Amino acid sequence: MPDFSPAARVSRIKSSPSVAAAARVRELKAEGRRILDLTVGEPDFDTPPHIKAAAVAAIDAGETKYTSVSGTPVLQKAILGRLEYHTGVRFEPDQITIGGGAKQVIFLALMATLDAGDEVIIPAPYWVSYPDMVLANDGTPVIVPCTEETGFKLTPETLRGAITPRTKWLILNSPSNPTGAVYSRQELGALAEALRDFPQVYVLTDEIYDEIYFGQGRIASLVEVAPELRERIFLVNGVSKAYAMTGWRLGYAAGPAPLIAAVNKLQSQMSSCPSSVSQAAAAAALSGPQDFVSEGVEVYRDRRDAAVAGLNAVDGLHCAPAEGAFYAYVNCAGVIGKRTPDGAEISSDEDFTLYLLDAAHVATIHGSAYGLGPYFRISFATSLDIIQEATAAIDKAVRAVS
Ligand code: PLP
Repeated sequence: MPDFSPAARVSRIKSSPSVAAAARVRELKAEGRRILDLTVGEPDFDTPPHIKAAAVAAIDAGETKYTSVSGTPVLQKAILGRLEYHTGVRFEPDQITIGGGAKQVIFLALMATLDAGDEVIIPAPYWVSYPDMVLANDGTPVIVPCTEETGFKLTPETLRGAITPRTKWLILNSPSNPTGAVYSRQELGALAEALRDFPQVYVLTDEIYDEIYFGQGRIASLVEVAPELRERIFLVNGVSKAYAMTGWRLGYAAGPAPLIAAVNKLQSQMSSCPSSVSQAAAAAALSGPQDFVSEGVEVYRDRRDAAVAGLNAVDGLHCAPAEGAFYAYVNCAGVIGKRTPDGAEISSDEDFTLYLLDAAHVATIHGSAYGLGPYFRISFATSLDIIQEATAAIDKAVRAVS
């Protein structure tokens, strides 16, 4: 068999660290070890029954064929209604696209717009997939560190400093994975003001966690705050996180019609359309009863409070309560340079997360994977019992370092 060598775009990218962490947890569990898993990036709830029922009804009714690239009329209507409810903006059917998850929609938007060397500004810490998706599509990720002092958020000054004539996109993610940070109306307004001076820059705003918000009312969206930028905003969302539907693979986006047409053209050659059954389920999720979402937020809030209190009680660690999503981004500078009971130096956040896995049997993901260390990310999409047990185990492990 000839040696296999992948295309350059494959060599440029790495596999997702969350997927790698999940694989490591599975391995350890297979060895019979009990692991307290705080790596999981998806709701631990089951998809609500009325959504499953809509999928079964679609199968029974024979809705099992290709649909239009931009989705069934029922799903389109549900998406347009949801976008209007959330942002106050009324989009038209030719301004929305759907795909196999928000992830695929983002990938296609980059594929539809990037030529070699085009730059994409990615504030760090970032969702791990953004830089690799840019690289896979011949672009150049421009990582802009955003520190704890600004709540891990991009400021207009830093944004201005990062823009060049090659800048094609700015990626914003609010609520953020991995920090849980949420941009306020004022903060978005200030970024919009900076963006007005750079008409070539498009903004991809990833709002996949918008329903998991612990503040009052609903989160601010750039399309609402800055109507004058609407022709260059690509707003991404999906049903994965809010409705516990990660496995159904259904995401969507709204944006200017020419950009949407380019994305749909690629989609028509890539997968024709996402699963018709998932489309029926997603339509039921978006237009059906929403109690599941609000009840979920209250469950996450209790877990967040327990996680944050438990972690802040550990000497050498600290974190702020997330304003949205289900993650905490924990500063572990206080343990860097210390030694484990075996005498090994903890010289990075990755060393620390490996130590936690080994000594406390707690799985987390190191912050450098998200572009900013020394931190680690925990997910509180798991039970309160596991969170409490895990934070106590972390405390015990940290007490043992010196
Ligand atoms: N965007 C962010 C910030 C995420 O954390 C994730 C999933 O982890 C996605 C997008 C992808 O979501 P989907 O399941 O819709 O592809």
